[in-house]
Amino acid sequence: MTQSLFISDLHLSEDTPHIEQGLTTFLKQEGDIDRLFLLGDIFEAWIGDDDDSPLAQRFADSMKRISDSGAQIYFTRGNRDFLVGQNYLDQFGATLLGDSVCIEVAGESTLLMHGDLLCSDDIDYLAFRAIAHNPEWQAEMLSKSLDERRALARQLRTMSKEAASNKAEDIMDVNDDTVRSVMEEHGVTRLIHGHTHRPCRHPLQNAERIVLGDWNKTGWCLREQGTSLELCEFSL
Ligand code: MN
Repeated sequence: MTQSLFISDLHLSEDTPHIEQGLTTFLKQEGDIDRLFLLGDIFEAWIGDDDDSPLAQRFADSMKRISDSGAQIYFTRGNRDFLVGQNYLDQFGATLLGDSVCIEVAGESTLLMHGDLLCSDDIDYLAFRAIAHNPEWQAEMLSKSLDERRALARQLRTMSKEAASNKAEDIMDVNDDTVRSVMEEHGVTRLIHGHTHRPCRHPLQNAERIVLGDWNKTGWCLREQGTSLELCEFSL
């Protein structure tokens, strides 16, 4: 019986020691698992795999313990930690997943995404995303010093918070047509994503969309045990 955990949107930073602690406690309580899926925005910001911050090291150490215990770890980039690369993940034997990946979950072919691409009404964000995913832009960014990149990341966070507070609620949620076409394109009846901070299991026509929750006062996970799937909230 395959046991997997799906989590996203921890938004870890030096300001969130209680979430790091909560993650450690949660993983300890879960015990042995086969697969751990980190579906994006695990970090509030990521300035490059050469980041020598204590947070990056602590997280790698705690994931190393999970992979040493026999779990395979998978990582999908979010809109905050889109610069995470295989170099960092190699520290704990994790596999970098693409923006949309199909895997078998609870006996069904399932599409995994971070979720930002599903919010297709957010034209401004998608325009920024296109730039930030351009290899030349990334190379230029990564050629800057760590201090410069830290300053830029702070700026981006402020801008993104201001932009979010000025946007209509429905722009910040998924577009139903985009969800339908993405699921059709991949031929799946289940989609798992995070990003919107609206944890819920949405029944669709002969299909389901499962949204993971963000971690703050409480944590969220989707737990696969054999053919059962359970979306859980727990206190941190
Ligand atoms: Mn996100």
